[in-house]
Amino acid sequence: MRAVVTGGAGFLGSHLCARLLDEGWQVVSVDSLLTGSDANLEGLRDRPGFDALHADVSRGLSVGGEIDWVFHFASPASPPDYLRNPIATLDVGSLGTRNALELARAKGAGFYLASTSEVYGDPQVHPQPESYWGNVNPVGPRSVYDEAKRFAEALTMGYHREHGVPVRIVRIFNTYGPRMRRGDGRAVPTFIEQALAGEPLTVHGDGSQTRSLCFVDDLIEGIWRLLNAPVTGPVNVGNPEEVTIRELAERIVAATGSASELTFVDRPVDDPEQRCPDISFARSATGWEPRVSLDEGLRHTVAWAAAAWAAAVG
Ligand code: UDP
Repeated sequence: MRAVVTGGAGFLGSHLCARLLDEGWQVVSVDSLLTGSDANLEGLRDRPGFDALHADVSRGLSVGGEIDWVFHFASPASPPDYLRNPIATLDVGSLGTRNALELARAKGAGFYLASTSEVYGDPQVHPQPESYWGNVNPVGPRSVYDEAKRFAEALTMGYHREHGVPVRIVRIFNTYGPRMRRGDGRAVPTFIEQALAGEPLTVHGDGSQTRSLCFVDDLIEGIWRLLNAPVTGPVNVGNPEEVTIRELAERIVAATGSASELTFVDRPVDDPEQRCPDISFARSATGWEPRVSLDEGLRHTVAWAAAAWAAAVG
């Protein structure tokens, strides 16, 4: 089997490339390196069957040879990243998705979309099942990500219905783990960096908003299982262990053994109040469920960050 992975130098894309290689696939990563990094490809470059192209999928996507699946994982995913790059984010969700779907159609391949829990916006149904249509501000600052991913889902279903392209759509909930970029801006890497430096952890608002965090290995297993299940529509993959952001900060202080305190700062516009996946469908369709608890996953991530980020500075 041979895959193209857009965003292969990103956090999730690089873990997906590694998993596909482990399964005996050949993999071509395509990444613009807007938010991905060469460092994420370090462990992949020397592996047999792996190739990396430096290209922007929003401008076009051309890969020679036979392809079985196109995985479209390219996009800024951290709120500060997509707020800094609004048009590139809209482009990769729209033009990039179109280019990746065209490649899949031309090659007779399947198409696998990395979608997001952000399609539910600031949800008024809790936890969120796939059948919930969401509550998205279509012109707010986050819309560049939310609406691009909603369009990407619609386009994916359009190609499936009009051209018969086999498709998978995974709605990825908050995920963390090794290879998150230092300075990425999301809560877990930000709090870890602050705790390791002995600085105050910047909790937005009063920290009562919730998220449900999935360790990256669990997420990749869910993505793999979904590939092998005959499911066309969107499937939530995430860990339903829900915590407040204040509690997350406290757990990261504990996991690092830091003396850092919490500081409460302004909350971003349209920041969702609560988020938790209903994973009943993933469970019944694929047999998948997460195995790594938040505390265990944070311990792994802290150990990785302490070593990797220190080495990058040194
Ligand atoms: N957050 C925070 N401090 C930070 C970064 C994020 O309190 O330094 C909050 C953010 O406002 C949100 C939650 O943590 O309520 C999760 O944010 P993240 O950026 O990780 O992901 P999101 O779920 O918003 O995409």
